[in-house]
This record gives sequence, structure tokens and C-alpha cells, in this order.
Amino acid sequence: MNSGHARIIEIDVKSALNKVNSARAPDMRWSLNPYRGCKHGCIYCYARYTHAFFELDPDADFSSTVFVKRNLPEALRRDLRKLGWPRPRISIGTATDPYQPIEGRYRLTQTALKILRDQLAPASLITKNTMVLRDADLMASLHRAAGFSLCISLITVDEALARSLEPDVPSPAQRLRVVQELARAGVPVSVAIAPVMPGLTDSETQLRDLIQAIYDHGGRVGYHQSFKLYPDTRKTLFAWLERKRPHLLPWYRRTYAASSDAPRAYERRLAARIARLRAAIAPGADAQAQAAPPAAGQLSLGL
Ligand code: SF4
Repeated sequence: MNSGHARIIEIDVKSALNKVNSARAPDMRWSLNPYRGCKHGCIYCYARYTHAFFELDPDADFSSTVFVKRNLPEALRRDLRKLGWPRPRISIGTATDPYQPIEGRYRLTQTALKILRDQLAPASLITKNTMVLRDADLMASLHRAAGFSLCISLITVDEALARSLEPDVPSPAQRLRVVQELARAGVPVSVAIAPVMPGLTDSETQLRDLIQAIYDHGGRVGYHQSFKLYPDTRKTLFAWLERKRPHLLPWYRRTYAASSDAPRAYERRLAARIARLRAAIAPGADAQAQAAPPAAGQLSLGL
């Protein structure tokens, strides 16, 4: 079966919910991902490793072979019965985009949201796709019933760079319009600046333009995260760098040789820059920005 250029494989799962044990996300206890693999095909996607479990190529197959968890609604109802009360918050889209194109046909994300609303289970969801607008009323009603928050992922307002790094994702301008429309529809919406790509999307000017655009569209910055490079993403990213930004390749190879994380010093400088820009662009919008160190002013973060 084909959808666009993706091969679709329908599977049955024992559970819809996965337990999350992450020190980095202590508030996240249960995740839900209707699809495995993602047609959006972002060059930097950390979830590529999930295809290796099925002896598929994390580089070539991740966006061209998408697994659909066709019995997700039944599995979710069963999981919620087992979990009982009080309902824990369910995090949707932690591994792959729940509004990638195949959702238009299977509507598993939409069905899951209806079940969560009817079962009074609070939820959060992250996506890059404008299809999320289809379910704005449903999200607003889930928010009124049990609590809901939405995060739109956006790493840059540079249209050409976004098209190159995120080849099958709606443009930054389209995602900003989604933020605006959902905020007007009463859906609590924020923007995740994640991942911030060293040397590609982290300059003072780029981040200022992005943060300004977010607040201009009635949104707010939810959080940011510096880029992490996991082993199964290396091949895809390094090939892209070699073609598009060869001067950055040695830095990426060296920096991520021993660890998946960006260096601590880089993360600190990045956090300070973003906090300062948030405080300057939207004073008082969040307490975190007020606690930021004073101006750093540098044009690069020390690559
Ligand atoms: S939208 Fe998210 S899950 Fe899909 S390829 Fe991009 S980063 Fe990966």
C-alpha cells in the first residue's frame, strides 16, 4: 500500500501507551505515537533509530516506510482502564509526528484525542504539520474537559533552510499561521524551538527573528533544546552537511564524537541567548527570561 512516496505497513500493538522513564522529562509519564517512521523526513530527526529495531535503514527507510498502529483506539481504551484514576497526562507525538500526512487517511490521532476527551484524560501534543488545524475544536474541548496543551515545533523562519532541513514539512510561515489560528480558537499553544542546530539556526539574528515572529503571531516560546546527535542520525546529517555546509562537518564530527549531547558550555550560552532575546522581545512573558544573564552580544556561540 502506498501513500505519496511512503510505504504503509499496518500493525497491531499490545499497548497504545508507553511508559516514559526520563530524568530529562520528569513530568512525562506516558507517551502515545500512532505512527512509527515519519514522512516529514527531517534531516536531524532523532527518532530514526526506531526503524533499526525492524531491520530497516534509519536513513533511507525512516521517511519512506511508515508503520500504522491500526488497533490504537482499542489499545488506548484498554490502557486507560488499567491506569484508572486519577488519569495521568498523556504526551502525544514524542517519537514521530502525529499529524504527518498519513493521519489524513487513518485519523488515529483524532480518534485518540476523542477517547482522551471522553475519558477525561489530560494530554499534550507536539507537531510540525498544519493538519492540526482540522482538530482545533476537538483540542479546545479536550482542554475544557481535562486539560490540553499543544506545541508547534519550529526551528527557523528561514524558508530555504527549513525546506532543506525539513523537506516534507509545512513552511515556517504556515506553521506561524497555525499558531495564530489555534491561539484564537482557545487552544493553549506554544512553540518548541527544538532542536537548535549549532552553526545553522543558532545565530543572534536567526533566533531574534524567530522569537519575534512567534510573539507577533500571538504565540509564546514553550521551550528550546540544543541538538542531540544519536548514532542512527549521523549518516543522514553528515551527508547533508557534506552537501550543504561542508565547513561545519569537522565541528559536528569532533563535537559529537564522544557524546550525543552538545557541549555544556554551548548549551549554557544558547540558553542565555534565548532567555535574553525572550526578555527583550516579550518582557515579562515568562519568569525564566527575567532570570537570564545580561547581554552576551556575540554573533556566534563559539563553534
Ligand atoms: S516531524 Fe518530527 S518525527 Fe517527523 S521527521 Fe521531523 S523531527 Fe522526525
